[in-house]
Amino acid sequence: MEQLVILTVTGDESSGESGGARCDCKVGRGIDEYELSPLNEELVRRWQGDGRDRSSLRELATVYNQRILAAGLDRAGASRIDGEVANFYRLLTGDDVSTGIRTQTRRQLKSEGVPIETVEDQFVSHQSIHTHLTDCLDVSRDDDPADPAERRRADRDRIRALQHRTEVVTTDALDRLQGADALELGEFDVFVDVSILCADCNTQYDIGKLLDEGGCSCQSASARE
Ligand SMILES: [Zn+2]
Ligand SMILES: [Zn+2]
Repeated sequence: MEQLVILTVTGDESSGESGGARCDCKVGRGIDEYELSPLNEELVRRWQGDGRDRSSLRELATVYNQRILAAGLDRAGASRIDGEVANFYRLLTGDDVSTGIRTQTRRQLKSEGVPIETVEDQFVSHQSIHTHLTDCLDVSRDDDPADPAERRRADRDRIRALQHRTEVVTTDALDRLQGADALELGEFDVFVDVSILCADCNTQYDIGKLLDEGGCSCQSASARE
């Protein structure tokens, strides 16, 4: 299941070899441009995680883009204090940020000598991160979106474990309450069901059935591939 990945990333420019970590995709070009090659290793490590604490491709795109932004600021000699890069990034890209604020942020960065349009053009999407990881760095993750059925199975197991845990905790609580004469109840069974209602067609599913079937029947088959 787990795949051990050893990336050799050297800072030695003259060798021209960095363990296959050099590539010409958009992510790789940004890494080259700002000499951020250790970032490759970090992206792989955070993507694969330790089997539990894994970053999503979206989170990794944010990590990458913030690093590019930080490097752009550094190159321009713009001052930056702790947390400022993350804040600038949010102001430049956040869905909840008004156009006015965004424009003002760009103006501020430009006044500090940051070629912000160029830097923003170097921001990448989560798809670019995925391509870079799988094609350029040739790493994979066992729940890679390439295998949706496997992902659904893994999540089904996780949810089932939680349901079981809720059953155990509930049974235990009721037993104790009965024992303390705080609850009047005969022999009992506890059921923990998780139901999902598709808002598009009002069909209700048990979580296990929904994950087994890969989606609601009202959605097109292609959306469930
Ligand atoms: Zn690449
Ligand atoms: Zn539906």
